[in-house]
Amino acid sequence: MNSSLANALSLIRIVPDFPSPGIIFKDVTPMLKDAEAFASVVEEIASYSENFELVAGIEARGFILAAAVAGYAGKGFVPIRKSGKLPYLTHSESYGLEYGVDTLEIHQDAVLKGERVLLLDDVLATGGTLKAASKLIERCGGVIDSVAVLLEIPGLGGKAKYNKEFPNVVVNTVFPE
Ligand code: AMP
Repeated sequence: MNSSLANALSLIRIVPDFPSPGIIFKDVTPMLKDAEAFASVVEEIASYSENFELVAGIEARGFILAAAVAGYAGKGFVPIRKSGKLPYLTHSESYGLEYGVDTLEIHQDAVLKGERVLLLDDVLATGGTLKAASKLIERCGGVIDSVAVLLEIPGLGGKAKYNKEFPNVVVNTVFPE
């Protein structure tokens, strides 16, 4: 890892018991605030692949990364949002959380048939969010080029769970364990 990336990693703040007891929250906001650190992360993600037309980000922190990578790489940005936020025709996918369910949506025309998509989020925990987002891209007819996250939560097996359903998609982690 180069020194800019190492600095970026050092700026990710660990917040215990947020948003609920037992969760160790990885807060990327101090890293985003540092121009060099943020730029190094964007460059790193953009270096993983050139074979995509669109960058999709998952609400909300995935938007920040995906929009920046899209701008850097000269590609388009696609938002994948929580339910009820997108104004036009949508596809929806619900997925299980520790307690209850959540739903993600994409505009039906956000990704055209055969378009290749780089999918981004900040943190991979159980993998449910990335799986739902990937299903949405495929329901539009898109192809998932690859996935990138900043961090994985250890011990949850999120990458393995994701790859069980999407065996051909490479999941890149900027700051691996
Ligand atoms: P999961 O669906 O379990 O993989 O959870 C991933 C989603 O929840 C991502 O959108 C993350 O932003 C968020 N998330 C889960 N756990 C954490 C954590 N410990 N710190 C920050 N974000 C998290």
